[in-house]
Amino acid sequence: EFISKYASHPHYQAPTGSNLHAKSWQTEAPLRMLLNNLNAAVAENPDELVVYGGTGQAARNVEALQKIITLLLELDEDHSLLIQSGKPVGVIRSHAQAPRVLLANSNLVPHWATWDHFNLLRSKGLMMFGQMTAGSWIYIGTQGILQGTYETFVACGKKYFNGDLSGKLVVSAGLGGMGGAQPLAATMAGAVFLGADVDASRIAKRLETRYIDKMTGDFDQAIEWVKEARQEKKAVSIGIVMDAGDLLKKLLESGITPDILTDQTSAHDPVNGYIPNELTLEQAAALRQKDPVSYQQKAIKSMARHVHFMLEHMHNGAVTFDYGNNLRAFAQMGGESHAFDFPGFTPAFIRPLFCEGKGPFRWVALSGDPEDIYTTDQALIEAFPDNKHLIDWLKMAREKVAFQGLPARICWLGLGEREKAGLIFNDLVKSGKVKAPIVIGRDHLDCGSVASPNRETEAMLDGSDAVSDWPLLNLMSNTAGGATWVSFHHGGGVGMGYSQHAGMVIVADGTKRAASCIQRVLFNDPALGIFRHHDAGYTTATEVAENFGIKI
Ligand code: NAD
Repeated sequence: EFISKYASHPHYQAPTGSNLHAKSWQTEAPLRMLLNNLNAAVAENPDELVVYGGTGQAARNVEALQKIITLLLELDEDHSLLIQSGKPVGVIRSHAQAPRVLLANSNLVPHWATWDHFNLLRSKGLMMFGQMTAGSWIYIGTQGILQGTYETFVACGKKYFNGDLSGKLVVSAGLGGMGGAQPLAATMAGAVFLGADVDASRIAKRLETRYIDKMTGDFDQAIEWVKEARQEKKAVSIGIVMDAGDLLKKLLESGITPDILTDQTSAHDPVNGYIPNELTLEQAAALRQKDPVSYQQKAIKSMARHVHFMLEHMHNGAVTFDYGNNLRAFAQMGGESHAFDFPGFTPAFIRPLFCEGKGPFRWVALSGDPEDIYTTDQALIEAFPDNKHLIDWLKMAREKVAFQGLPARICWLGLGEREKAGLIFNDLVKSGKVKAPIVIGRDHLDCGSVASPNRETEAMLDGSDAVSDWPLLNLMSNTAGGATWVSFHHGGGVGMGYSQHAGMVIVADGTKRAASCIQRVLFNDPALGIFRHHDAGYTTATEVAENFGIKI
């Protein structure tokens, strides 16, 4: 009955309200979040169980998904469910403060950690690509990356444009699940945005959810809008249906140099993600089926061409950076030997935040009532009266962000702040000021949870970019601390062989048990970021550790 109401393929819907379907909120929460990940308002392609990030799935197949749901409905607090690449494989004995679900997605022994081997296993039904928050059931739609993108553009504005992005042009491509945050983040930061996507339906989705202002397939029209907005210093975002490389080439020919240039096409996957230029979507889909080897050749050549034009714009003065999709590595493979001449966004803008244990903290109202999120926003505004940046963000988010699926919020909080926020949320649930428990989680892109040498751990001071002991320690710490579900994935953001990362989600259900778990997990998790950056020689991390009396 539950499955036919909430999970009949491909119509997925998280239950809302304050009544339980599972035995406790500790199992109702993963159940609702899994279904929310697949809701049509949230997921990019629920038909294929794809949530975002190219082929990032929430469950291996429909049968596995329905079995997970059945098991979550039955699970009690003495047991935990094991998920192997999107398929439930067993229930173990545990205890009330242990995670209810333990997930491992897309992991391969390093020597075999290639897309070729992964795709072979996937074609046999043995694996699933979990991306970061798709397979770990804490995707919240495009808002999930919105503040990170906003922080990045603001940091870039401070570093290169005296903190003023008005009239400045940000150019990018890829307006999918995550990349779709770029237009809104850029206009929130005051800039003009022009972004390409080959798939018109992806841009249309951003129009519907108010992430982008305008859309066209006509280059001249787009340029007219850009010029107008730049002149009037109006923050406007424009999506153009076009190949990324083609847009950059046309801009070069027109003598227009972006002020800021980046990219968020699904470049991490050269077969099931990036669309080679000169192919229509239909031609690309057919070639991918018929001849994946030739598809990959074309994709990496296109990426080389794309990066070549980025480099030309960089030489003309555009502040250029990689936005975490591994475009540079595949462009290098495709023949662009200078691909790594521009930096990734972490060393360029984000690392100082990681050194303070800061990262994308997010929460979701399981009631489904937007008022519950507004109550949490207000509680944080009152709890952090001196944090003007945070208060401005929360106010702007309330005004500009349309919720997708269950109402959610994201903001970057650091060590100390996360624990404080978590306990406040638990009290709001306890006192009935919100109508149902609050789910607290984060991206795997965080200060102490990921090893990804072309992204989060690029250019570490001590050269320890590829050391993945850290995300494993993060996973173990969050399991020991009692998160509600934990996960360990491979390949997120940048593709097979390039990253390993851990996720955690904890449910504030208003109980004393939840308060103890929150105090441990929301301390341990950002503390791992401090340990990691202190160990690599970042003095800010050492100072933060001293201020918080952390044992290092
Ligand atoms: P997605 O699959 O939802 O969207 C990718 C988009 O790129 C699609 O709309 C597709 O049509 C478009 N595209 C592909 N090839 C193109 C081309 N040649 N020209 C123009 N458009 C093209 O993926 P997503 O969730 O938006 O993620 C985008 C990328 O960013 C992925 O590689 C992902 O791993 C990475 N990512 C980065 C971060 C970060 O923090 N920087 C976070 C999450 C994901």
